[in-house]
Amino acid sequence: MAAPPRPRLLWLATGGTVAAAGRGIAYRAGALSPETLLESLPEAARYAEIECASPYAIDSKDATPQHWLRLHTAITEALARPQFAGLVVSHGTDTLEETATLLALTLAPTKPVVLTGAMRPPAEAGADGSRNLLHAIRLAADADTPPGVFLVFGEEVFPALGLRKAHTLALQPFAAEPRGALGTTFPWLLPPIEERPSPLPLPRPWPTVVLLSATALDAPEALRQAQETGAAAVLLLPGHGSVPERWEAAIADATASGLLVVRASRCGQGPVLPHPVDERLGTFPAGILSAPAARVAAALVAPFPREEWQTLWRARFLPYGAET
Ligand code: ASP
Repeated sequence: MAAPPRPRLLWLATGGTVAAAGRGIAYRAGALSPETLLESLPEAARYAEIECASPYAIDSKDATPQHWLRLHTAITEALARPQFAGLVVSHGTDTLEETATLLALTLAPTKPVVLTGAMRPPAEAGADGSRNLLHAIRLAADADTPPGVFLVFGEEVFPALGLRKAHTLALQPFAAEPRGALGTTFPWLLPPIEERPSPLPLPRPWPTVVLLSATALDAPEALRQAQETGAAAVLLLPGHGSVPERWEAAIADATASGLLVVRASRCGQGPVLPHPVDERLGTFPAGILSAPAARVAAALVAPFPREEWQTLWRARFLPYGAET
C-alpha cells in the first residue's frame, strides 16, 4: 500500500545563527542555505515535504522594517497558496521578538506559521538548530496545530505575542508573558487554540517610535524632541514601569500633544500592568510586551485615530483581568 501523502510546507529562511558558518561566538549568521541545512536533517522528511525560499539572509541584529515588510509579503503569499499546509520561518534570535510581534498583530493566518532559530551555529558542539528546526517542521505539519503564529525553541512552543529574548547565551533564551510557554515539543504537547483579535494593517511608511531610557540619569527633554519627530515613544522604566517624578510633566505634555507614550520595563521579565499614573499622564502600560515588542506594537497602533488607541491596546496587550 502506498504511504499517505505528507503535508507540504514552505520554509522561509531569513538567516540567523541557525544558518551560520563558523564556530564560537564570532560566526557568520545566515551563511548556509535552507537546502544545505535540510541535507543534514533527513528526519524532516518523516513529517513533511518541504519547499525552501529565502526572502533574505541576515544577522537579525541588522533587520529593518523593510525586511519585516518583505517577510510579511512572502508569508501572505504563501498563506494564499492551498498546496501549503503550514509555514516554517527560520530567524535570528536577537530581534525575533520584533518580527514575531509584527506577524502576530498583522497576519490573519489560516495555517500554522512557526518561527524558530538557534543559539549555537550548526558546526558547534551541542548545536540546537537541527532539533529546533525539526520540531518547528513537525508543529507546522501537524494537522492538530491551530492556525496562528508560534515560536518553537528549546523543546517549547511559545505564543508570538508576549515573547522576549531574556538571556544572551542560554540554549533557552526565550520567555513569554503572561503564562510562559504554551506547550512542549518533548514530550509532544500542542498549544491550545487562542482567540485573537482581528489583524492590524501594516503602516507605510513605518512611523518613528523612539525608545527612551527614563531614570535618574536621563533628561526628560529627550521626550520633547521625540514629540517633534515621532509618532510614539516607548519609555524604558525601572521596575514595574515606574515613572520618575521629574519625567511626569514632559510625559503629560507629550501625550496631550498626541504622542502615544508606552510605559515599558527594563526588567527582563514580567508584565507592566495598568496603574493610576496612566490616567493621570495619558500613558499606556506595555502589558505583556517587552520594550522592543512594544515599539513594534506602538508603530501599528499610532496611525489609528487617537480615540481608538485605548481599545486597540487593551484588547491585545493587557493580560486578561488586568485592572488599574
Ligand atoms: N545574531 C544572531 C541573529 O540574531 C543571533 C541568533 O540567531 O541567535 O541573527
